[in-house]
Amino acid sequence: MLYRWLTHLFRAGLMFTLTGSLVSIPAVYANKSDNSDNTEVLVAELAEDESVEDVEHSEPLRSSEPKAGNGKADTAQRSNEKAASQDKTPDSTAEPAVEEVAPNVDLKEVAPPPKPAEPAESEPSEPKETADQSKPTAQEADAATATDESGVEEAAKVTEPQKATSLKMLGSEVLPGTSTRLAWSPAIQIAGLSQPTPVLVVNGSKPGPNLCLTGAVHGDELNGIEIIRRTMYDLEPNKLSGRVIGIPIVNLPGFQQGSRYLPDRRDLNRHFPGSTDGSLADRIAHSLFENVIRHCDMLVDIHTGSLKRTNLPQLRADMNNPEVAELTRGFDRMAVVHSTGTTGMLRHAAVEAGIRSVTMEAGESLRIQEHQIKAGVNSLTSLMDKEGMISRMFVWGDPEPVYYDSEWIRAEHGGILFSETKLGAKVTEGEILGYVSDPITNAQHPIRASSNGRIIGMAVDQVVMAGFAAYHVGTEAEVPGE
Ligand SMILES: [Zn+2]
Repeated sequence: MLYRWLTHLFRAGLMFTLTGSLVSIPAVYANKSDNSDNTEVLVAELAEDESVEDVEHSEPLRSSEPKAGNGKADTAQRSNEKAASQDKTPDSTAEPAVEEVAPNVDLKEVAPPPKPAEPAESEPSEPKETADQSKPTAQEADAATATDESGVEEAAKVTEPQKATSLKMLGSEVLPGTSTRLAWSPAIQIAGLSQPTPVLVVNGSKPGPNLCLTGAVHGDELNGIEIIRRTMYDLEPNKLSGRVIGIPIVNLPGFQQGSRYLPDRRDLNRHFPGSTDGSLADRIAHSLFENVIRHCDMLVDIHTGSLKRTNLPQLRADMNNPEVAELTRGFDRMAVVHSTGTTGMLRHAAVEAGIRSVTMEAGESLRIQEHQIKAGVNSLTSLMDKEGMISRMFVWGDPEPVYYDSEWIRAEHGGILFSETKLGAKVTEGEILGYVSDPITNAQHPIRASSNGRIIGMAVDQVVMAGFAAYHVGTEAEVPGE
């Protein structure tokens, strides 16, 4: 009743057409690729979801003695850009003009089932209508009427500089000390067939950073959806410093079809930050980036392994970026694997925009895994504690996070993979990790560890071809800059 324009999770109907977009590699990274033949620091990296192309195109972890000033200058520049861009509205063309105070919703309460949107509704009017329908409490109504056109933000600054401010996004104004459900819609569909994507917002009563959580950018990666639900629905606005913005299911059509991809088989996580004049995928990415991601100070994009591979709970982070490296220290009991990321990834684009970002990988696709979910929630809780957003007397594990360089070990023969090792196992060079069994010739081909390390990701037993990446071995590494 209150949020009929919100989730229509189980109604299919979107069609997207996607093409690739190219974003140039920043100069600070470009010259480092010349080091790829330096075997001492060569790291066979991977990017999200074990894409082979990404393994080939990633760049090595810098040694712990980077070129003087390089990283710092980069950081300073990012900070300046960030500061300069903080106050501006992300994209005036993409941002709905109407701003209504969002209804305060106790996220712990079960929301009423959404009703279908009326055909004639155009997107900008949707938040307004919903706000009209909602019945805000007297306290909210007072707050809303007390807010003149100058907005709560300015008023709060004048009277009490330390006070938390409203968050204005997606056509709504979320008051401090409230939580609500908003909706993001890329506005590319046929009017009336729009399928808004739910966005959960908790705006703390105290000032602090904006933490964004994104799940199911790949629609078949389910653990992150539950990690975000548990994390956000456990927050109390009155005890929160800063804001938490969560999009549990970014790729709604993919989720509905149990597919990693958008309906035309394109990968949304190769199109960020998107563009207004590109393909539909570019436009979807651009809309999300401008309307939601630009509000973030920190971003955790939650993924899982793919293609029948599973991961230890781990972060993928560009450890060559000092701000990102610092961010990873907030994650309790997480392996941290260095990965620069690939152009087009949400994490990569966000870092380029000055937003500290990591990818969290938790388990396998198409599964809900309690252990992985608990690890993810624990780690996000530790992050919010470390960033001063919550205070829960968090008890840290020992001694995580642990930092890894990593490499993939591939099958040299086709056949059926039978693993001898387990996820998380410590392995030594030459140790047999598993066998590929040829069902026709009965040949047994062992796969051996090429270095000492730990199994941080691996394929489940399955039919494989030669070249299939089977075991992801992490070697403990120093954090650059320490
Ligand atoms: Zn993914």
